Amino acid sequence: MDQREGGLAQAESVSVNVQGGAAGDDASARGLRAHLSSMYGALTGHFVSVRIKVVALMTLVGAALVLMSAGFVIYNFNSNLEQAAYARSAGVSDAVAHAALDMAGPADIEPVIDAVAGAPGLKGAAVASLGGRILHSSDDNWAGKRLQLDAGLLDEARRLPAAEVPTQDQLEGAGHYPGDFARILRFSQSGEEAVLFVRVDTDKVASKLVVDAWNLMAWLVIAVVLAVLTMSLLIHRTIVAPIEALRDYAASGSRSVPYRGGLEDEIGVVARALSESIDARNAGEARLAKLAATDGLTGLGNRTYFKDRLAQEIAAGERGGRMVGVMILNLDNFKDVNDTIGHDAGDIVLQRTADILKGCARDGDTVARLGGDEFGIIMPGVKNADDALHLAGRLVRAVGAPFRLGAQELQQGACVGLTLFPQDGRDAEVLVKTADLALSRAKQEGAGACVLYRHELHLRAIERNTIERDLRSALAQNQLMLFYQPKVDIATGRVTGAEALIRWRHEERGFIPPATFIPVAERSGLVVPLTKWVLDEACRQNRVWQDDGLMKIGVAVNVSAIDLRRADLTDTIANTLIRHGLSPQFLELEVTESMVMEDVDVVIGTLRRLRSLGVGIGIDDFGTGYSSLAYLKRFPVKRLKIDRSFVQDVADGRDGDVIPKVIIDLAHALGVKVIAEGVETAEQFETLRALGCDEVQGYFVGRPMPAAEFEVFLRNSPAGGLHGTAIDMSKPAGARRGSKPDMTGSAA
Ligand code: C2E
Ligand code: MG
Ligand code: MG
Repeated sequence: MDQREGGLAQAESVSVNVQGGAAGDDASARGLRAHLSSMYGALTGHFVSVRIKVVALMTLVGAALVLMSAGFVIYNFNSNLEQAAYARSAGVSDAVAHAALDMAGPADIEPVIDAVAGAPGLKGAAVASLGGRILHSSDDNWAGKRLQLDAGLLDEARRLPAAEVPTQDQLEGAGHYPGDFARILRFSQSGEEAVLFVRVDTDKVASKLVVDAWNLMAWLVIAVVLAVLTMSLLIHRTIVAPIEALRDYAASGSRSVPYRGGLEDEIGVVARALSESIDARNAGEARLAKLAATDGLTGLGNRTYFKDRLAQEIAAGERGGRMVGVMILNLDNFKDVNDTIGHDAGDIVLQRTADILKGCARDGDTVARLGGDEFGIIMPGVKNADDALHLAGRLVRAVGAPFRLGAQELQQGACVGLTLFPQDGRDAEVLVKTADLALSRAKQEGAGACVLYRHELHLRAIERNTIERDLRSALAQNQLMLFYQPKVDIATGRVTGAEALIRWRHEERGFIPPATFIPVAERSGLVVPLTKWVLDEACRQNRVWQDDGLMKIGVAVNVSAIDLRRADLTDTIANTLIRHGLSPQFLELEVTESMVMEDVDVVIGTLRRLRSLGVGIGIDDFGTGYSSLAYLKRFPVKRLKIDRSFVQDVADGRDGDVIPKVIIDLAHALGVKVIAEGVETAEQFETLRALGCDEVQGYFVGRPMPAAEFEVFLRNSPAGGLHGTAIDMSKPAGARRGSKPDMTGSAA
């Protein structure tokens, strides 16, 4: 039982071993396979050129051919040796056999044996009896020895005619030697027979054969190398070179010369297909690039194209030391065209402009649409600024010529900003910016203006940025203040109100006039919080004066066009009034004539809401803004303020009073009060009184002054406070108490 168990256990262990062995083999085979495949991967994972593959293949073929021929030479060596040895012995034994024909017996042949034994390639020769006993030999060592002749072969040879089939056998006792040959000799005179024995020197024969074999090998190698080279050359010319040309063509993405195969073959077909697909791809790419750089509406290049071209022209200008002019043309009030006659008409206007610009441009100029109603023109090689301005003027005139659009006759104004490389900037980005700056200056100058960028424009832009930054912090840090300028009733001399005028004392630059910073605030949107602050401060101050028991007057606050367009202006004002507990009748807003003439419907709505709130509206700088009388009737205004420019000449004794008179009469006809601003002299004051003007404002009656000073002024006004007295109009304001001239209050 135990034994059986032991046996089983052994068998199991054997089978386990066997399996273990098989598993080991498997593992090593797998390892080998993995190794091979990793080698293959390493080889195939790298790019191996066709040329190298062909060279490797041809080398392999050449090596195989050389090896095969070497094998053949070696294989043939033995039989060659045998044949050579046989041929050597046959030659000698033929000569001896021939000599024997004329002899009587073996004794006569001895000298012949001796003679032939010395022939090259022989070791010796002997004549023996048919029984094999050596009768005479060239080698003394052979004397008395026997040849071991094969009886059968000997009989067969004796039956054959003379000189045929020599027998080969060994010399007894002289050892086995491959160069031994025997043959029957017939002495025809006696009819006797003997055996001729010849021993060929096989070493010599072999060494000669080896030399021959080496020569043969050398020629073979040369032939194989030549054949392989010729094959390689052929394969190179017919396959490798065309494939390499194709590769270069494909890799260069068609920038190299396309491959043109000589004879029509598969490579030619592939080349043609490749060339066609690359051409198609290039054409597609070119089309896409063109589309990406083109403005769809006008067919001109777009902003990207413009900048690219500009960079190229700048580089060319740099190389050739040439000037490059850059122009940005913008259509005036293009928005109105879209709004009034529609977007389709707007598109036509843009296309017409593009056509005109293209038509006017000189050879080499680039015209592009930069976006909206803005066009850019690059003028390489302009001679000087005048040259560029001349072209700009020509473009503006051409664009501005009247044209028909359907039934309408239209005229489209435009402005141009101009800049020059290299004096205004040396890269595309800077030049576009400077041209833009010049354009905004041109816009300010008005329709048809062409402005050449000057460094001052840039400085002005920097100045604007500084002002904006400082104003923002001044507003945040409460560094602004309000001055108040009195408005006086012309008949009674009583103060009827005050205009709140903002003042900013800059920490480093001193007082900055509102005419400088208000436009900056308007551009940056900062005017909105600024107006809020002015409203708040003016209402607060007015409330304080009222609480102090001073005469109740209205305070006028200037608002900008941006404020007027904001939907929340009414709410802001209502909240401010509520916050300070001020009745709306004591607040007046001054809006300029030009402000109300833009977006008339919106503005009328806002003004009506304000009016219904109880807030007064005054039209400032009246006479400068081409009011339409029809609109004027609809404006809910309380006052018209005659602009200072008319007041200046009102007492010049010529016809300076004509316009003020017209305004006064018009205002009265509309039931609106008139105030004249900028009254500086008694003559102006008197003339205005004679013309029927209701109120005056100006240095003559009082300069803008700080709140505390204004308070004194108000107290001195007739019925202006508890102890008020009438203002004596016979003296200028500076001579009166409470109206000390304040230089900071003068207009810019
Ligand atoms: P404006 O509303 O027409 O204000 C009258 C300007 O004329 C004031 O200039 C005032 O100082 C000046 N002025 C008054 N009387 C005379 C005079 O007899 N002779 C001369 N030569 N000038 C006189 P100011 O304060 O420099 O303000 C200029 C402009 O700035 C104002 O013109 C107004 O449009 C604007 N502005 C002033 N304060 C504010 C404000 O708080 N908000 C807004 N949005 N604009 C303001
Ligand atoms: Mg004003
Ligand atoms: Mg004014």
